[in-house]
Amino acid sequence: MGEKLILFGPPGVGKGTQAIRLSAALRVPHISTGDILRASLQSHTPLGNVVRGYVESGKLVPDETILEIVRDRLAMRDARDGFVLDGFPRTVSQAESLAEMLGGIPPRIDSVVDSVVVLDAPTDELVARLSGRRICESCQASYHVTSRPPKRAGTCDRCGGVLIQRTDDAEETVRFRQQDYLQKTQPVIDYFVKNAWPVRMVDAIGDIDQVFGRVYAAVFWR
Ligand code: AMP
Repeated sequence: MGEKLILFGPPGVGKGTQAIRLSAALRVPHISTGDILRASLQSHTPLGNVVRGYVESGKLVPDETILEIVRDRLAMRDARDGFVLDGFPRTVSQAESLAEMLGGIPPRIDSVVDSVVVLDAPTDELVARLSGRRICESCQASYHVTSRPPKRAGTCDRCGGVLIQRTDDAEETVRFRQQDYLQKTQPVIDYFVKNAWPVRMVDAIGDIDQVFGRVYAAVFWR
């Protein structure tokens, strides 16, 4: 049986980066609701048209749309024995629905999810990380204007593509996303704890390898 994990935390804390590593290490799929939504925007699918306004302004997509996406993805064969969920659940109602989807006796879920890793970092650090982030338009590689600049300004080291700022990484939108996280998403941690979900708090300050070491230890030395 593979591991069933949730990576949780504020925007910019590094969930995506750590989720990609964990999923490779554990050989389970990485399921990112943000990635699924962005792919639908790029390919102009009907879903993309419905969610574009929300995603580009950093607002949460309505629960019913997200739940349909996650239900379909978790029903796929590769997710049967394990997964790393990244960016979901983001509201208490999404957490309740996840418990139902996974067949747990809601709201207790410790028998169906192995760990909820909560990555934590101060808001000011997250705003700086996100507003300086640049993404390659072609291969999606991620850079930072000061902490991880490309060799040639504006150009991807890996594929030569053009580096852009995600619309939702503009500073004002980043601040909105952090506020929205505190109001709507952070309360999900209380819900997890109250209902005995297996929460592991991890300090997300440090370089990617250091944080991955902590995440791995939190998942396996439980
Ligand atoms: P992320 O890459 O996880 O930061 O997600 C990017 C954007 O996708 C968010 O700002 C939301 O607009 C949307 N989104 C992703 N996951 C969810 C979710 N679980 N619930 C609602 N909206 C979501």
